[in-house]
Amino acid sequence: MPKIIGLTGGIGSGKSTVAKFIEEMGFPVYYSDVRAKEIVNDDELLKKGIIELLGAKAYDENGLYDRKYVAEIVFNDEELLQKLNGMIHPAVKYDFEKWVGNQTTEFVFKETALLFELKLNESCFKSVLVTADDNLRLKRVMDRDGKTYREVENVMNKQMPEKDKIKIADFVIFNNDGMDELQAETENVIRQIEKLNE
Ligand code: ADP
Repeated sequence: MPKIIGLTGGIGSGKSTVAKFIEEMGFPVYYSDVRAKEIVNDDELLKKGIIELLGAKAYDENGLYDRKYVAEIVFNDEELLQKLNGMIHPAVKYDFEKWVGNQTTEFVFKETALLFELKLNESCFKSVLVTADDNLRLKRVMDRDGKTYREVENVMNKQMPEKDKIKIADFVIFNNDGMDELQAETENVIRQIEKLNE
């Protein structure tokens, strides 16, 4: 079985960019958030559970998950949101385990914003945190998603503070410079991880 490396970072930290560099180095990356969005449509059992919890309107006339509707009804209902996540997270976990079983490399990477929040790092060999100054992250996400300062700030405020994540992570990539520096730093960290396995 490959060893699992958790790859995380808050919104706009650069974790997806780092994940692409890692793929270029030949390691498979599992994108948890992307898969979660697919699973709500593909996993029939999960779909059934979501409809039982939120009603048939959680899926549109084409049978596709209605993200906007679901967001609206769970927005002010913390308990409902917890229940929904309590269904989606185990389904992603199961999907990830199946995926890992099909990989043949020495290491695989699991990209997720919630590595520490959900304590997923406990089932990883090592964790890698990508982080950058808050103002840089804000600017990068505003440029990337066309969101306002307030919108990005709201998401950032809901996530675990970077200073707490830095304390827990095995490796930290500070993404305050350019793309070339980020790629070099990523390669440096991967080499260090490979050395641990020699
Ligand atoms: P995350 O996945 O953590 O939300 P991304 O990897 O999507 O973050 O990065 C956020 C945005 O910032 C993207 O548009 C990305 O291209 C850009 N970006 C990331 N790192 C750098 C960097 N070092 N220099 C310039 N732009 C960057």
